[in-house]
Amino acid sequence: MTDPKQPRQHEAKPKAKPDSGTDSGPAPEIVAAACRTCGQTTTSECETFPFCSDRCRMADLGKWFNEDYRISRAIKDTDIEAGD
Ligand SMILES: [Zn+2]
Repeated sequence: MTDPKQPRQHEAKPKAKPDSGTDSGPAPEIVAAACRTCGQTTTSECETFPFCSDRCRMADLGKWFNEDYRISRAIKDTDIEAGD
């Protein structure tokens, strides 16, 4: 039961930040990694992380389109029929 005598307070208190970490927002820690295309060191500060540049990111996409990356094994019937 709520107390009607209790006035609602409209204080402009700064709320504590929800520190979920894994959801959205920039990561607090800067992570460094080698660009997957050219190997140059890039950091998570970079917009194109884990690539050093947009060009490298597009180049990586191009690899996929050119089927440089392949599925490591053939799809088996058991993969498809599983759960049926
Ligand atoms: Zn690169």
